[in-house]
Amino acid sequence: MLSSTGSAGARVALPATPGAALSAAGELLLFILHWDGFKVFGLEDLAAIETLQVFDAVSSGDHLGMVVVTSGLHNQRLDETYFIQVHALVKPQLVLLWTSGPFNLPRVTIRVMPFPTQRLRRLRANESLRGLVRETHLHPGQFILPLFVCPGEGVRREIGSMPGNYQMSIDELVKECIEVESLGISGVILFGLPETKDEMATGAYDDHGIVQRAIRAIRAETSRLLIVTDVCNCEYTSHGHCGFVKDGDVDNDTTLQWLAKSALSHARAGADIVAPSDMMDGRVWAIRQALDANGYEKIPILSYAAKFASVFYGPFREAAESAPQFGDRRSYQMDPANGREAMREIELDLQEGADMIMIKPAMPYLDLICQARQRFDVPIAAYQVSGEYSMIMAAVQNGWLDHDRSMIESLTSITRAGAGIILTYFAKPAARLLA
Ligand SMILES: [Zn+2]
Repeated sequence: MLSSTGSAGARVALPATPGAALSAAGELLLFILHWDGFKVFGLEDLAAIETLQVFDAVSSGDHLGMVVVTSGLHNQRLDETYFIQVHALVKPQLVLLWTSGPFNLPRVTIRVMPFPTQRLRRLRANESLRGLVRETHLHPGQFILPLFVCPGEGVRREIGSMPGNYQMSIDELVKECIEVESLGISGVILFGLPETKDEMATGAYDDHGIVQRAIRAIRAETSRLLIVTDVCNCEYTSHGHCGFVKDGDVDNDTTLQWLAKSALSHARAGADIVAPSDMMDGRVWAIRQALDANGYEKIPILSYAAKFASVFYGPFREAAESAPQFGDRRSYQMDPANGREAMREIELDLQEGADMIMIKPAMPYLDLICQARQRFDVPIAAYQVSGEYSMIMAAVQNGWLDHDRSMIESLTSITRAGAGIILTYFAKPAARLLA
């Protein structure tokens, strides 16, 4: 009465009874098989079934539950493997897969379209359901706000290409940081605009430099706000490159000394985290050595591990006044085409002692955030850079995009890709919206 070939995907011959039920093409039928014959247990209207096949026969007492699929020829897409949970339908006391006995039923896989049994829209019906099953959540504690500190007093100069962001003198910066802290944002990262620049970037590692003074002032007025410092030289060199220029190129190992001195001066001023962004080889090691040798072994390093030579930094250079006067940064920042090299950069920075790593920019490099998340068990930050911010804001100002939704969607995508920490110019409005 019932036969099969016994192999995966085997077809089972139609039993003689109950013929009426089985002749209804395009239906999924659940049968309880008594030793003395078939009884229809359940009937589901499942369209697009092609072949009659037995799937995971389940024994329950003297019953045998199984799914039988009858043929339905109107659907041509039957190439997906799909498992039906028979035991959930039968609800036996004891589930045993039937592997031997009078029928010697095979364990086979049915190939069938999941629709309409599976309807993913069920869980999208309203905001409560959507909230219940949401996989990615944003919170202000994951944000770090980049801030630009400039000389003077009472200065609060809006950056043209980055509406809502300002160059601020230290007094204004402190007010800003108090507000940032009150919004639950974890930290700020400081970029300095010094009074003067020179070939040797002396402003970068001067204990009385603009950033060092800003750190002390913020520290005095905030309690738990993390002060992160960008460790680089491009804002302090007269030529705008990230280090000591020799023969038209940045000299790696001389620059390491500047970076180490800068990081140390930031730590001395009270920085909580130092974040080297220069992309010199060996900088994390050099900074770690300098910090440890001076009693700052507790200061973590967030390395800009995979920083690409990106066009999306454009607005930042206006903000930080750090555009290179000649050439570009492609001999030290990464080629946007290279993903494997990014993994090597991260690996090396971790070996040198980085506590956290960063990928910059964020949205054009979501694939690398995702890869890094899978490969490295360290906190991962992503920098949603000025150009990413400016693009959205320009579209918002033109009425082409909704501000709040594009802000949240962009931040969500970065988080979903695997970045737990986001450096973003949206930190304040996003924190307000999420409150
Ligand atoms: Zn730089």
